[in-house]
Amino acid sequence: MDEAKIAEIVRRVLSEFQNPSDTAAAVSVCAPYTPARVPPPAAAGVVTRAPLGGDDGIFGDIEDAINAAVSAQAQLVAMGMDMRKRIVAAIRQAALGESRRLAELAAADTRMGRADHKEIKNRLAAEKTPGTEELETICITGDRGMTFIEYAPFGVIASITPCTNPTSTIINHGIAMIAAGNSVVFSPHPAAVQSTLEAIRVLNRAIRGEGGPANLLTSIAEPSLRTAKILMTHPRIDLLVATGGASVAKAAMASGKRAIVAGPGNPPVVVDETADIRKAARDIVAGASFDNNMPCISEKECFVVEAVADQLILEMQHAGAYLINSRHVEALTKIIVTEDGHPHRDYVGQNPEVLLNAIGLDAPLNTELIICEVSEDHVFVQEEMLMPILAIVRVPDYEAAVQAAIRAEHGFGHTAMIHSKNIDRITDFARRIRVNLLVANGPCGAVLGSGGEGFTAYTVAGPTGEGACTPKTFSTQRRVALVGSLHVV
Ligand code: NAD
Repeated sequence: MDEAKIAEIVRRVLSEFQNPSDTAAAVSVCAPYTPARVPPPAAAGVVTRAPLGGDDGIFGDIEDAINAAVSAQAQLVAMGMDMRKRIVAAIRQAALGESRRLAELAAADTRMGRADHKEIKNRLAAEKTPGTEELETICITGDRGMTFIEYAPFGVIASITPCTNPTSTIINHGIAMIAAGNSVVFSPHPAAVQSTLEAIRVLNRAIRGEGGPANLLTSIAEPSLRTAKILMTHPRIDLLVATGGASVAKAAMASGKRAIVAGPGNPPVVVDETADIRKAARDIVAGASFDNNMPCISEKECFVVEAVADQLILEMQHAGAYLINSRHVEALTKIIVTEDGHPHRDYVGQNPEVLLNAIGLDAPLNTELIICEVSEDHVFVQEEMLMPILAIVRVPDYEAAVQAAIRAEHGFGHTAMIHSKNIDRITDFARRIRVNLLVANGPCGAVLGSGGEGFTAYTVAGPTGEGACTPKTFSTQRRVALVGSLHVV
């Protein structure tokens, strides 16, 4: 089949799945995504509709998806902890084996971001999401006997997932939620349905291959806002996990159900005059360009102390950033920002050359990121653009940088970065900006295990306070006291 024919089939399938009737009236975050100036997806990432049925977790009806997850969760608990460990290991292996294919599917499905970076995200989720080992029993003994605390499952979790990390979130949640003994009904973003469903199928196959229950992870084939809302209040759902922008965060908080809510961010980066400027520039370009700046943790705006601003910008250019002038900024703003001041969906997650071409500029081959100098009140600073463009604001000193960073973070409590060799300043910044994730002297990903110490999480729950979510987050505590016995010293 020739390329044009493949592209035509892909367009038809995508439009069928991205325009389900009851999502048409969805809020803007959920609007069907129709990109401009983007080449058709490569044949390797062709998205096809697989048949329903079987034990792969995909159902035509939301009640069937919930009932299957209820039954699978009971089976999982009955199978015991050793089986759970084996299931988690099988998921990791399957996700690693399919990381490239799922990444290509996600890029083709959403037409956003970069397949090579999405593969890194999938691999990170497979390798660094904590498993059952995190759920160690706590035991307290003393004169009055013994008390132990175990981590028990919630039951069936409803997980509403974003289009920015479609497959990596499924892998991350699949491992962490199942490790804690739960089953999951996913509600994929309507603009990322096929890649999300395929990730669910891959994981379910691995679970069954290990002898685990069918349908431990479920979804309906045509998710919508209506079905997401059903999950939010359904009596058989024990815990709601919502990962996305302001709209879903607000809806989940108002659902009345026990909820773990991970909302938007707008991570600032501060660079002071003590920083290793060359390294800071490289780290910032690496973080802000990753997956075309779609991760919620990516550097979105930079506040740099005047004394080192020129040097930082020069080093960023050496690291693959393309500097545009104020005239270009004005032209670009008119194109990539809507009249009501929000990022234009057509440009979210697109490559830098797409943005540059839109204002008549040709990007050099190695362009990873667009950078520009603007004032603090510019929309590129204050809005979460989710595009490979980093706004830079010069400030007189460290104190001014901190104050501007706190304003730009908007109290989301999400993520911030600082480049400084002054430990007191790093401590001061961390205390004052009050984010769940803070990186000092590294790119954003370092805080989730990519180039830094620690584990990976794709749900950072600021509004409800859990931070980077792990199996413990998806567990409830059971405490047992044995009075007067089993204290043996
Ligand atoms: P989005 O809010 O458009 O969609 C996220 C999910 O919520 C989708 O499944 C969508 O269908 C659903 N949804 C949206 N509005 C809803 C409503 N009113 N009721 C029920 N369901 C609703 O977000 P997106 O474009 O997919 O992802 C990007 C956003 O998510 C950014 O703001 C980013 O910062 C944020 N994000 C946050 C985290 C985190 O861990 N805090 C992780 C990834 C993405």
